[in-house]
Amino acid sequence: MIKTLVISTLVILLAACGEQQAVSPSDGAAAQEQKTFKWKLVTTWPKNYPGLGMAPENFATLVDRMSQGRLKVKVYGAGQMVPALEVFDAVSQGTAEMGHGAAYYWKGKTPAAAFFTSVPFGLNAQEMNSWLYYGGGMELWRETYAPFNLVPFAGGNSGVQMAGWFNREINNLDDLQGLKMRIPGIGGEVITRAGGEAVTIPGGELYTAMQTGLIDATEWVGPYNDLAFGFHQVAKYYYYPGWHETGSTLELIINKEAWESLPPDLQAMVEAAARTVNQDMLDEYTARNNAALVQLVNEHDVQLRRLPDDVLMKLKTITREVLDELVADDPLASKVWDSLQAFQSQVTDYHEISEEAYYRARRLGTESTIQP
Ligand code: CA
Repeated sequence: MIKTLVISTLVILLAACGEQQAVSPSDGAAAQEQKTFKWKLVTTWPKNYPGLGMAPENFATLVDRMSQGRLKVKVYGAGQMVPALEVFDAVSQGTAEMGHGAAYYWKGKTPAAAFFTSVPFGLNAQEMNSWLYYGGGMELWRETYAPFNLVPFAGGNSGVQMAGWFNREINNLDDLQGLKMRIPGIGGEVITRAGGEAVTIPGGELYTAMQTGLIDATEWVGPYNDLAFGFHQVAKYYYYPGWHETGSTLELIINKEAWESLPPDLQAMVEAAARTVNQDMLDEYTARNNAALVQLVNEHDVQLRRLPDDVLMKLKTITREVLDELVADDPLASKVWDSLQAFQSQVTDYHEISEEAYYRARRLGTESTIQP
């Protein structure tokens, strides 16, 4: 991959140096290289939504600049062309060439999709990227989406999320009984099995759903995005840690025919731009989440709470059951889960004595500025 990127960069540099102009216009390949592509990109987020919604915008800007206008991508927010939860179908059918969203929204299409965003108690962002690019994850993702005429790319990562906003305190397992919560993916299945009721609602509708009491709780992303949606106005308790989404990968999906219609240099630019926005989102969240949390707690009197260990332990036990059942009847999902588990097992051992040990060491002798 690195080699491909280096070569791609060289190709772009050569093109920028006028190398391309030296080729005769009658040359078929050169004509193909000069062809301009105009693509539509549909998203599951409101237009220009901070964080999540900026990745497709940044992607479009990047490929436009890299290709010198040969690949123009127009971004449509949720509902502008298709509703949020129809992005997968729209790109699969070619209504739009590209989409941006999260793979776990599509686990109803294929159970294996659930693994490419995040699984509860799974990999963090750093580890997820590592699995995708160096642990066989991308190959499995492409295999999963091939029957749907889609080519997937990682297109952002939220880092560890927050457990969510609740209209009641969660002190023990009883408090989860009857809890109606917006929580997608496997995390949702776990909440339902723990006695709650999980629902999937697009982000843009969550504020109203909380305000009207349609739901008792919602997870979304983290302080930066959650502040933007104003959840502090409709829920009092903000829980951590985000056991259910531990380093969620967002996705860029491309219709297979559209992808294959691109010449190799534009394909390389798309790959490079996707990898750039994938990292950029994590960088932005890392920079903005803490400031947003301080604002939520200090200015908006949000009650920050940690989920009790026995609740987390129970959710972890149920997660294992749900995942084992999910893959039992689906060989592809089983293959993906095996790969993920093997990777997590080896990366956990090392991260225990590197990342984890360092976090603890860094905390020694200091007080948290946000602990209630
Ligand atoms: Ca989430």
